[in-house]
Amino acid sequence: MTPLPFDTTVLCIGGRWQRCASGATLPLINPSDGTLLAEIARGDAADVDAAVRAAQAALDGDWGRLSATERGRLLLKMSALVLARADDLARLEALDVGKPLRQGHADALALARYLEFYGGAADKVMGETIPYSAGYTALTLREPHGVTAHIVPWNYPMQIIGRSVGAALAMGNACVLKPAEEACLSALAFVRIAHEAGLPAGALNLVTGLGEDAGAALAAHPGVRHISFTGSVQVGRLIQTAAAQNVVPVTLELGGKSPQIVFADADLDAALPFLVTAGIQNAGQTCSAASRILVERSVYPQVAARMAERYRALRVGPALDDPDVGPLISARQRDVVESYLALVRDSGLPVLAQAPVMAGAPAGGCYVAPTLVGEVPADHRLAQEEVFGPLQVLIPFESDAQALAIANGTAFGLVAGVWTRDGSRALRLARRLHCGQVFINNYGAGGGVELPFGGVKHSGHGREKGFEALYGFSVLKTVAIKHD
Ligand code: NAD
Repeated sequence: MTPLPFDTTVLCIGGRWQRCASGATLPLINPSDGTLLAEIARGDAADVDAAVRAAQAALDGDWGRLSATERGRLLLKMSALVLARADDLARLEALDVGKPLRQGHADALALARYLEFYGGAADKVMGETIPYSAGYTALTLREPHGVTAHIVPWNYPMQIIGRSVGAALAMGNACVLKPAEEACLSALAFVRIAHEAGLPAGALNLVTGLGEDAGAALAAHPGVRHISFTGSVQVGRLIQTAAAQNVVPVTLELGGKSPQIVFADADLDAALPFLVTAGIQNAGQTCSAASRILVERSVYPQVAARMAERYRALRVGPALDDPDVGPLISARQRDVVESYLALVRDSGLPVLAQAPVMAGAPAGGCYVAPTLVGEVPADHRLAQEEVFGPLQVLIPFESDAQALAIANGTAFGLVAGVWTRDGSRALRLARRLHCGQVFINNYGAGGGVELPFGGVKHSGHGREKGFEALYGFSVLKTVAIKHD
């Protein structure tokens, strides 16, 4: 096993690192070579129950007594520590997720920035006074939900912890974090950092384990007052069903089939890097991946050729070599993506480019060749289903109306990009696209910690990131005072 800087077989409950109640463990696999990386604790319902109780005790104790300013300062300390350890965190993510070092480093910087943003915002969330009947003063207060559950996937653990746990702590909630069983190391490292910064015991608890086991127990726990979930549509439905039983709010972020729309008048030199990077970053395992590229017919040959050229230059290999594209998270995910590559072969659609996996990449690694497919009909499975791998489809269009219909014509609605020099067209589309974020002449806006993020339709509901998340992680209470 690879030597790691801390014990990976423990959970954090009430500030104490301990084995799970059953003592069972799960293997953590390095996706770059398929070797055993570490063992993690296989927490279950008993551990989840202890974690929720510890979180409630923190709310009733030291954590609950802190002022908003004090909570903010703690988050700022965490941010500084994360920044100082960014290289170490990037290495853990490379080993665990197969994320190329530069991308892991960017995730660590994003985590630090979320903590900085929410640390700064913690004491700036205001209620209102409301003009009401004579003899009354009416006002609103923003209060924490209480215990919040954070069920996190394996693709961007640090960023998703930053945006959900960061905002929840800023508002004074006490958190129970359940990272994905495929990738827990940065979560384990972060919870240590949080305590090193002085976070009171129980404010942030961590239970590793299987989704159907620890995750399901957390979603169903009656002590949890809010659930933040990022992952698949299938599990999102289970989470919302569990939340309904306890009548608690949920934030669901469930991925997408996001389009970038390229018009003939676009600045293609500016667009090209975004068109490709937004498809292959993190080996395409990104909820907001631009997996559909819609191109106006007159520039289609040019865009197809230039994207293909970029694909052929991609370096695909082990994460620690810092390639452009690392392995997929697991053999299971590789099988899923391979099944879509088989669909490409069977479809007879033109493969415009395929980047080869670098010579010498370990045979046990979960690699697939990034693939660009042309002339894909808008209703084809390849243009409708979330692949979650480095596979992009090009779809030609003839008119603005057709582009809009294709862009809106999937079950998802997370993000869209529009490339055009026509300002009216850009704004018209921004208003008519069915999704949570629209980027004009860019895509992703450099991470956008400050920009509210979330979906419509099967991409989910609720908003994380930005100031908006602070409203989601709090409850509005109205107080009406009768006087003379
Ligand atoms: P998943 O939805 O199964 O897992 C996400 C998280 O939910 C993990 O922490 C997991 O342990 C937990 N979980 C799983 N089953 C659960 C249950 N019954 N109750 C409570 N929690 C549970 O996602 P996955 O298996 O890791 O990936 C499958 C597909 O999901 C991917 O191919 C992709 O399409 C999608 N996905 C989307 C995102 C995103 O960012 N939106 C992230 C990861 C995966």
